[in-house]
Amino acid sequence: MRTLSERVMADARSEGNTCIRCQSTGSTCGRHYNGIRQHKYGKGRGIKCHPFLVADLCFECDKLFQEGTVAKADLMNRVAYSEDFQHWCIMSTIRRVERGVIS
Ligand SMILES: [Zn+2]
Repeated sequence: MRTLSERVMADARSEGNTCIRCQSTGSTCGRHYNGIRQHKYGKGRGIKCHPFLVADLCFECDKLFQEGTVAKADLMNRVAYSEDFQHWCIMSTIRRVERGVIS
């Protein structure tokens, strides 16, 4: 019996899965949200956010959401970054519900 996290990550990298942001195929993987609210979503030392906060992103789109993309002091851009990443996580979660991966 696989955990929710294992099912989500397997779904993200499943054959033919499209990037939720640009619709490309071939390099899609699950990427855990790492924005300003990550600790509210379960992130801790050695612990990732809740699997509902996973976006299916391709290699290129993932570059936009890597740790350190926005300076810690740049609050307005950090909020925008967070909102954008959350959006793609929510869209990925909706898709997983529609696929029956999450019920
Ligand atoms: Zn993409």
